[in-house]
Amino acid sequence: MQNRPQEAAQTPPERIVRVELGDRSYDIVVGANLLETAGVRLEQVLKRKRVTIITDETVARLHLETLQHSLDQSGFEHTAFIVKPGEGSKSLESYGALMNDILATNPARDECLIALGGGIVGDLTGFIAATLKRGMNFVQIPTTLLSQVDSSVGGKTGINSPYGKNLIGAFYQPKLVLADISLLATLPAREIRAGYAEVLKYALLGDFSFFEWLEKHGSAVMDGDLEARIHAVETSVRAKADIVAQDERESGVRALLNLGHTFGHALEAEVKYGPELVHGEGVALGMLMAMELSARSGAITTQDCERVASHYRATGLLTDLPAIEGLTWEARNLLSHMYQDKKVDQGNLTFIVLQAIGNAIRTQNVQEQEVLAVLDHFIQ
Ligand code: NAD
Ligand code: MG
Repeated sequence: MQNRPQEAAQTPPERIVRVELGDRSYDIVVGANLLETAGVRLEQVLKRKRVTIITDETVARLHLETLQHSLDQSGFEHTAFIVKPGEGSKSLESYGALMNDILATNPARDECLIALGGGIVGDLTGFIAATLKRGMNFVQIPTTLLSQVDSSVGGKTGINSPYGKNLIGAFYQPKLVLADISLLATLPAREIRAGYAEVLKYALLGDFSFFEWLEKHGSAVMDGDLEARIHAVETSVRAKADIVAQDERESGVRALLNLGHTFGHALEAEVKYGPELVHGEGVALGMLMAMELSARSGAITTQDCERVASHYRATGLLTDLPAIEGLTWEARNLLSHMYQDKKVDQGNLTFIVLQAIGNAIRTQNVQEQEVLAVLDHFIQ
């Protein structure tokens, strides 16, 4: 008991970021040790004390018990379904199986699904929530840096098809997001770096002073400093919440969040979404490619490009295409993946380019030759 006040003093205060979407508005809580009190927090937003948890095997092993204990303490009835880690679980097969498994528990329409996991669990659970009984409540408890700063916020949910990634889905907002920074302590360094690419994205696309902050504190974020991680997640989530509030369904400004993603998705598609290159790594490389494209058209200075590249080196982000056995990177192949992207508009490739660090714009005015030249620059 004696340690209590000290412990409390060591836990940084939590931050609340509101996503303003009228009657679909919700809070994102960013802080440490939130999972322990999840039950109390859920009581405040839910009418019914019966919930279904969806998680993956890795996260279940590490963190499910803490959540279940907290739910018990608040008197919730709960059932957990555990999927395999990896993109394979964002499939029609696991979606169908889970829908039936959950229906077998006879849930009421106003009960809640809880996504405890990274973006894969979050996207899958969100899509189940959007379609089960024509829409059930759902809460995101993102457990990766990437899902805390990106996928748990903004309501994009969905699964993959053999025809492509995220092709089946819905816009469906959660009731609450609990971004518990303490959960990142168990996340492998590679996944931290992948999430950090999305953090850096917010700085590059719209917030120069955040970029300067990352230059000073990026290594602390990587190394696990709690305060630094809370600040990085809070700032990222504020940026995303602000953009989503302006443009929920991506008809305008939300497209800026795709900085690095046209290139990144092509890289991911080329490795067939395998573990050789995870999403955040594709985004990291894709942002460098987008910067190279921006520099070639004279939009951004080479000094700015070098400044960002040196931040990549300082934080250990991927700067070169990885060598993958059995794969030869070809600019033409990557370009053809870009044309299959669901964001291609009447055959025009869309890119987000930088005019300066912290200032991005959307363009469809890019010649194929320029794109091929950028890709070749990275392949050589
Ligand atoms: P992920 O869900 O696969 O998690 C990465 C790995 O880390 C998994 O193996 C998982 O088991 C493990 N893990 C998760 N939390 C852990 C923890 N706390 N400790 C230890 N291990 C842990 O990957 P991700 O990067 O979180 O998400 C990628 C997915 O998110 C992709 O499918 C992508 O399409 C999607 N996404 C969606 C949006 C959106 O707006 N909906 C945005 C970006 C990405
Ligand atoms: Mg992304």
